[in-house]
Amino acid sequence: MEGLIMDYQLNVPAILRRAEQLFADKEIATRLPDRSWHRYTYADLVPRARRLAAALRNELGLVDGDRVATFSWNHYQHLEAYIGVPVGGMVTHTLNLRLHPDDLTYIATHGGDRVLIADKVLWPLVENFRGRVPFEHVIAVGDGPTPDGAIEYEDLLASAEPDALPDREIDERAAAAMCYTSGTTGRPKGAVYSHRAIALHSLASAMAGSLAVTEADVVLPVVPMFHANAWGFPFTCAFVGAKQVFPGPFLDGASLLEAFGQERVTITAGVPTIWMAILQELDANPDTYDVSTVRAMVVGGAAAPQAMIEAFEKRHGLRVLHAWGMTETCPLGSISEPTSRERALSEAEQYRYRAKQGLPAPFFEIRARGAEGLVPWDGATMGELEVRGAWVSSSYHDSPEGADRWTEDGWFKTGDIVTIEPHGYIEIQDRSKDLVKSGGEWISTVALENALMGHPAVAEAAVIAVPDEKWSERPLAVVVFREGQAASDEELTEFLAPQFAKWWLPDRYEVVDEIPKTAVGKFRKMALRERFATQPAETA
Ligand code: AMP
Repeated sequence: MEGLIMDYQLNVPAILRRAEQLFADKEIATRLPDRSWHRYTYADLVPRARRLAAALRNELGLVDGDRVATFSWNHYQHLEAYIGVPVGGMVTHTLNLRLHPDDLTYIATHGGDRVLIADKVLWPLVENFRGRVPFEHVIAVGDGPTPDGAIEYEDLLASAEPDALPDREIDERAAAAMCYTSGTTGRPKGAVYSHRAIALHSLASAMAGSLAVTEADVVLPVVPMFHANAWGFPFTCAFVGAKQVFPGPFLDGASLLEAFGQERVTITAGVPTIWMAILQELDANPDTYDVSTVRAMVVGGAAAPQAMIEAFEKRHGLRVLHAWGMTETCPLGSISEPTSRERALSEAEQYRYRAKQGLPAPFFEIRARGAEGLVPWDGATMGELEVRGAWVSSSYHDSPEGADRWTEDGWFKTGDIVTIEPHGYIEIQDRSKDLVKSGGEWISTVALENALMGHPAVAEAAVIAVPDEKWSERPLAVVVFREGQAASDEELTEFLAPQFAKWWLPDRYEVVDEIPKTAVGKFRKMALRERFATQPAETA
């Protein structure tokens, strides 16, 4: 039909132009490895990102679709790669710097990365895998001497003019970034984000009722830029003109809290384990830090325990915004921002809702499937969450064996077991591989963990399935006590008993000093299963 709206391309260059034209004087602050602060504005970032794009193409010979790996902390040069690489038509591939060199080798090789941009402070780790991957160029970022065989990042930028690469209209369906997930069985799999997905994800994240990021915000992503695009914040912030604050390598509670106060941070984001550490630091030194400007702490990547949400709000006036997502969903999938319906409930009920995963984002649809087909939205029947939407992967990069994650009608099978309420609220009960199947019935380890972490003596708790002759599986709770505190097995069971059916209660408790974590800070239940699944701890 004639008279249609323009076919305007939703792409990263459009985000860059907006930041350049409207928010040039807004600041980007980075804590450098020597703890000093680097500051500049979008007016400085934009030409540097353009220079990077031009240099990668004109000096290093990259072409559309080529992959550029990054191996970096959160900082302004990483942001330059986030924006500059896709503006040049290439694809940023963020590598997780906590992975084993074998995995990094596999991921960078499988991703077909032609260039690696890496922090000089991470060079000992870079040396563990760079020679095993056919990178054509390795670029070193940061202060200090240029490592052997590497190109100096600043020299590379200086070699190009910011306008050496004419602005091209990049197809919104082209790839802009990629990230590998290890949350699957088998080898890590690559999720590839299109320009359009990133643009729409930024728009939806910025909406009121979503993460609600505005120009007036000061955003400090604790979540690493190698974990699902730092949940999109670097793009969302550039899109709305928010100030960005990058913590560099300093992710301890004290450094982060100090940065919140100094930079007047309003929004921050990370996995629950980060917030547990921050909560302990705040509890121990409540008068040391000024967190009065922080209006939202986005918690995702794993379930935010209700006790933690309440502790932050009641003890420190800090509001937790619980969100769910996956590497395969760019990552924002759902947000637990109470609607008027929840706001009308009692305080206790509201907290119960805040610990759920919330409503799906716009342009993001949900359903759940059990053994007998799609389950009703009744808030009780468990099923595997399936999703589709404007920023959901439609396949993995070059991994035909991962094709079974999509249904015949094109929905992505998340592997998360949920209940959905009649009005659409999602509650994650478990990862399908973590559920306890006791006597043919499912027990949610997440629910037990959340409840245990509400016990005053418990710092962290992870529940796993252990084989059982009679019931096939039974729950075992692995517990870390707060310093100087403890509770007996009986006390813990007594604490849980009013909240659960009797057969849900753990049969065994194991006390440990620390729960092993994954490369992005989640509980590594596989390690716990290996350690405890067969025998009690003392003989394991
Ligand atoms: P990743 O792709 O590594 O970020 O892992 C995604 C998985 O993390 C999801 O499939 C969930 O199992 C888990 N996850 C993420 N956010 C939450 C949340 N808010 N509550 C519970 N689990 C979560």
